Amino acid sequence: MITVTDLRKVYHQGKREVRALDGVSLTVPAGSIHGVIGHSGAGKSTLVRCLTMLDRPTSGAVEINGVDLTAARSDALRTARRRIGLVFQQANLFDSRTIEANVAYPLELIGVGREKRREKARELLGLVGLGDAGNAYPAQLSGGMRQRVGIARALATDPDVLLFDEPTSALDPRTTDEILDLIVSLRDRNPDDLAVLVITHEMHVVKKICDSVSLLEGGRIVESGPLTSVVKHL
Ligand code: ADP
Ligand code: ADP
Repeated sequence: MITVTDLRKVYHQGKREVRALDGVSLTVPAGSIHGVIGHSGAGKSTLVRCLTMLDRPTSGAVEINGVDLTAARSDALRTARRRIGLVFQQANLFDSRTIEANVAYPLELIGVGREKRREKARELLGLVGLGDAGNAYPAQLSGGMRQRVGIARALATDPDVLLFDEPTSALDPRTTDEILDLIVSLRDRNPDDLAVLVITHEMHVVKKICDSVSLLEGGRIVESGPLTSVVKHL
């Protein structure tokens, strides 16, 4: 479960202060898929960076299963960050590594041994429907397949939260549907362990897979609730 409380991020553009996040709060329990939808400039990228602590929030808390990332320092922060698996718009794979080595990369970073890494990477590639592609290289795969690899890599450290940043914006409609089905199947496989947060500007993504949704405008959540009650206004 992820709990975000009164998250704020102020940027300085010359003399101007920009409140990119202006008091964002939300909760995503395990087993649930929550969407944050907003137009360009709403604060989506800033939210992703602050949730993963790639950028330090100005104030507020981001708790994963009760552990506040914003209060953690160095080693504790690195450990806590692994509780979030991040999937980008483009999978950002290493072209010179095999698919299996790409998926195993987060485990390599934390010193997991070679055999265990391979075993885990193979299991995850099977899970995302790429059981045969481990020895291929990213350039040999389609965009949808690369995105599956990105998802497998995000799952390598058994995260509690899977965070998707515009996961389908670079994909065609059919591939988009396949990736969305995969996201739902991952949640269904582990409903007690996995909270899913999808940040997107695409309404059809939210409508297709989210249980609940928050509408982000100007760094604030202006509406939030079950999909059916929020989306009828949109
Ligand atoms: P979105 O991803 O929804 O398009 P962003 O999070 O990129 O929105 O941006 C939200 C606001 O914060 C915008 O006004 C943007 O110009 C500003 N902003 C984002 N990042 C920075 C930054 N690094 N420095 C200054 N302003 C920023
Ligand atoms: P996205 O396409 O993901 O919404 P943006 O185009 O908003 O991303 O921003 C791209 C990068 O530029 C981000 O790292 C963001 O922090 C930075 N950025 C956005 N707006 C500004 C700004 N006004 N001043 C400085 N950096 C900015």
